[in-house]
Amino acid sequence: MAKSWSTPPREALRVTPGYRLADADLAATPGWEHGASAADKRLAVDGRHLSEEQERLFADGRSGGTRSVLLVLQGMDTAGKGGIVRHVLGMVDPQGVQLHSFGVPTQKERSQHYLQRIREALPSPGRIGVFDRSHYEDVLVVRVNELVPPEVWEPRFDEINAFEREVVEAGTVIVKVALLVSPAEQRARLRERLERPDKYWKFNPGDIDERAKWPSYLEAYQAVLDRTSTDHAPWYAVPADNKWYARLAVGRLLRDTLEDLHLEWPAADFDVEAQKARLDAQPL
Ligand code: AMP
Ligand code: MG
Repeated sequence: MAKSWSTPPREALRVTPGYRLADADLAATPGWEHGASAADKRLAVDGRHLSEEQERLFADGRSGGTRSVLLVLQGMDTAGKGGIVRHVLGMVDPQGVQLHSFGVPTQKERSQHYLQRIREALPSPGRIGVFDRSHYEDVLVVRVNELVPPEVWEPRFDEINAFEREVVEAGTVIVKVALLVSPAEQRARLRERLERPDKYWKFNPGDIDERAKWPSYLEAYQAVLDRTSTDHAPWYAVPADNKWYARLAVGRLLRDTLEDLHLEWPAADFDVEAQKARLDAQPL
């Protein structure tokens, strides 16, 4: 039997008023007391359940259902967003996943409202959408680097809450994950990228410039968690210094989210017995 959570991550990691990012222990494993190798076994089990639920969601979407799931991944460089995609979403059928990575807006995107490219990437019914970065960059990197003045980014918190409410009301469950890495762990991970030729491609000299602004990012992330962890789209603060823990936690968050939809396999819209008889009657 795979070991279990003492407190499931939806409870252990949900951001509620009073959460203080600056005080969080990012090497902790809240709700999980069994260490790394038991975690891999647990994730494998959760992955099988997640995979079955994903197939049910996909089938539901094919049969006129309107439900979908959106996983929003935010975090500093090296926080492990790509690893979540590979190791957690990698456990389900790729047809069912719609992944979008949001980088520096293109010229065309800059001429549009910042939520426009987000709207265009929302998952269709039956899919699990994954955002590797998201509209939150418009109150994070944009704020920290003063790409627009405060009177422009400040109203975005309320606007984002209203936007997400609209998305939820249309049938999408939103799961927002802040992958939280400590500055010391980030240094080690950037250092590793510089030690290994197979990791150079992941390194961007600009990451070191962004890292220098850590206190400003901390303040910006705190504001995001304070202002946008709503009942309709809560944030989960996932300590990510242990990659195995972050993957375990997100796997379980997704499994629980999908199971809570209580989807049924779509009923046949044909006469099953009649179709069996037709098939059996064929000489081939
Ligand atoms: P990566 O995720 O490492 O490929 O890098 C993507 C880069 O795009 C990051 O440095 C983000 O901060 C940046 N980025 C994403 N969205 C925005 C945005 N709305 N405005 C400015 N920069 C952004
Ligand atoms: Mg990067």
